[in-house]
Amino acid sequence: MILYLVIPAFNEEEVLDSTSKALKEKMNNLIKNKKISRESKVLFVDDGSKDKTWHIIENLHAKDKLFIGVKLSGNRGHQFALLAGLMEAKKYADAVISMDADLQDDINVIDKMLEEYKNGNEIVYGVRSSRKKDTFFKRTTAQMFYKLMKFLGVNIIYNHADCRLMSKRALEELENFKEVNLFLRGIVPLLGFKNSIVYYERGKREAGVSKYPLKKMLAFAADGITSFSIKPLRFILAIGIIILVISIFIMLYALIVKILGHTVAGWTFLTISIWFIGGLQMISIGVIGEYIGKIYNETKARPRYIIEKILK
Ligand code: UDP
Ligand code: MG
Repeated sequence: MILYLVIPAFNEEEVLDSTSKALKEKMNNLIKNKKISRESKVLFVDDGSKDKTWHIIENLHAKDKLFIGVKLSGNRGHQFALLAGLMEAKKYADAVISMDADLQDDINVIDKMLEEYKNGNEIVYGVRSSRKKDTFFKRTTAQMFYKLMKFLGVNIIYNHADCRLMSKRALEELENFKEVNLFLRGIVPLLGFKNSIVYYERGKREAGVSKYPLKKMLAFAADGITSFSIKPLRFILAIGIIILVISIFIMLYALIVKILGHTVAGWTFLTISIWFIGGLQMISIGVIGEYIGKIYNETKARPRYIIEKILK
């Protein structure tokens, strides 16, 4: 059984040495114990790094053919880098496991995933059993995100990031999802197939800083929601209806005040209303715009990633 590990890397020069060492040991062990075939590989995807990441990958490849690499032509973001790697790996592998370059996902999860694969699962989700080592901020924002997604009716696995095993079969089906607004955590559960979950402890980043600053995190969350749920659009409708109902009472109130002859008193109320409704309209248009932006991107159907170089 040929296993490929797919590791997206964006400016990861600080961690690649220790990561490659750990992965090499793990893979060689698995090969020795006949769990995976000798043709198994570790595939790094360089997501347009500006540091020595690609250079390091080339060196690793020169020393040991266990390591192979794909270099994207520019920084396209984690999801696309991952997709590029998965699609490349699919050509040769029976199953592919994706992991982050910083090895925050415990690599011993590989053994558990292979076990589940052997039991006939096409997809195995790696789920973090605890986030003790994440910062308080990361932990709470991430958890809020999962809860919000669930509330919006998007089927994602709680506390599962992009650490997962997918069989060749599942990857072939994934290839048919042509969307440009890529949110793999939402798409993979749509594939169906027999699947299971394995748990692991999420560790600390080995070195370097998170490549997901708050700005990227928020954009990622917004993509996740708007590319999978039309509920925000429905919210606008609901808010509109509520405001309509309220405005009937306000009309009654305004009429009564007029009949009683205190019309000037309405000024404060009027000002507040104008601002309030104005704000609400802006938000609503913004939400609609968000979706139109998505449609815009999807209709253009630009390539999702461009491969510059392949080492194999
Ligand atoms: N990554 C990437 N392209 C990007 C940002 C991140 O390929 O534009 C990779 C990064 O190298 C790492 C993974 O995505 O392998 C997850 O990033 P990181 O560990 O920085 O995120 P965090 O664990 O803090 O969520
Ligand atoms: Mg990380």
